[in-house]
Amino acid sequence: MPPNNAGTAESTPAIDLAAYRAELNAWLDANHERLAPRYDPPGTIDDQVAQMQRVKSILFEAGWMQRGWPERVGGSGGPPMLRTELGAALAARDLADPGLFSLIEVLAPTLIDFAPPELAADAVPRLLSGAELWCQGFSEPDSGSDLASLRCRAAPEGGNADTATNWIINGQKVWTSLAQFSDRCVLLTRTGPADSRHRGITAFFVDMDSPGITVAPLEMLNGVLEFAEVFFEDVVVPAERMLGELNGGWAVAMDILPYERSSCFWQRIAFLYGRLQRLVELAPDGDRFAEIVGEAYIQLHALRARSRATQHRLAATGTIGAETSIDKVLVATAEQTIYDAVRRLLPGVIEIDGSASGELWRNEYLYSRASTIYGGTAEVQRNIIARRLLDLGSEG
Ligand SMILES: Cc1cc2nc3c(=O)[nH]c(=O)nc-3n(C[C@H](O)[C@H](O)[C@H](O)COP(=O)(O)OP(=O)(O)OC[C@H]3O[C@@H](n4cnc5c(N)ncnc54)[C@H](O)[C@@H]3O)c2cc1C
Repeated sequence: MPPNNAGTAESTPAIDLAAYRAELNAWLDANHERLAPRYDPPGTIDDQVAQMQRVKSILFEAGWMQRGWPERVGGSGGPPMLRTELGAALAARDLADPGLFSLIEVLAPTLIDFAPPELAADAVPRLLSGAELWCQGFSEPDSGSDLASLRCRAAPEGGNADTATNWIINGQKVWTSLAQFSDRCVLLTRTGPADSRHRGITAFFVDMDSPGITVAPLEMLNGVLEFAEVFFEDVVVPAERMLGELNGGWAVAMDILPYERSSCFWQRIAFLYGRLQRLVELAPDGDRFAEIVGEAYIQLHALRARSRATQHRLAATGTIGAETSIDKVLVATAEQTIYDAVRRLLPGVIEIDGSASGELWRNEYLYSRASTIYGGTAEVQRNIIARRLLDLGSEG
């Protein structure tokens, strides 16, 4: 099935983004009481997930969640940048955690591109309305950076791939964000021979309440149970849940990357501007204040300029590839520089401050260390930049 290009400019008339932003912000101002978290920040992961789903349902009811999504999946059309502006506005106001909210932008465009149309039309509105949460089952204990080596196996029931009505899945995933809260999983499986690498991978859209799935949450460095191990034991998945072609799962994985490393960064950038501003308000004036804040601001602003250009390129062409590795390096660098600035300008806060504010900074500082790992590590991004963009030789 050819991709439908959910992220492209297809049927997306030009729109006045500034006017949209103003309209959105006026509505968010007017509805702040309804939308604001009902817990003290940072809240538990359960609090944050519940808050995000509640915010999604209110926004869906008011028609905002549908903006920028194709009409064939219940959207109201318009360019994808309407979605990223919404994510950024929510992140800037601390109404939804940017990392959790960005999973919509990471997974839904690819589902629209590769799922049978009736499946996408049924599932996407559930994700947008807060009725469902989805997760991304790619990484395995021995397959992270080298994703093409994954082993979680899908076999046709009865042995014939052409006639099978079900597929049987056995294996394990790891680091699956929000798996314990998720209703569905975009799952990569091995369907070719063990050594078939990227040519023998198939994607499925799996219901997480299927018999045979066990989810074991894992603690991150900041103590939060945000991701999980997921075990599959004889899990039956209907053949119509295959995304794309048999052994065409690599195309599904590659379709996700432009979203995972570009448009969804827009919300994290908005969030980071807010945190930098909070640091400026809290930090005492000192010899190195301007230098440290200035360095963080330059990193963040360079990232914003880059990300804006990337989104315009995505909107214009519908295809961005290896270039997004630059965005990924920049976002991780900016995030870590900002939280390093917090540590330098608010001495002891990250390490020993027991107040709610200290807990928030510590939680976010520790999470920022993961930004050079998730979505592809910094080393691997630099390899891609060196080899594919700068033509500096091949692996090995
Ligand atoms: C917070 C968080 C959330 C995540 N969420 C998800 C999720 O929802 N779904 C999912 O599928 N995965 C998820 N991941 C997993 C993530 O994609 C992997 O951790 C990442 O791809 C790295 O894989 P790995 O952990 O197996 O490390 P490895 O691939 O084993 O790498 C270990 C180290 O070796 C380096 N290295 C590896 N290969 C090379 C090379 N060729 N050249 C140079 N250096 C190299 C790496 O840079 C790294 O420093 C998440 C990770 C984190 C931290």
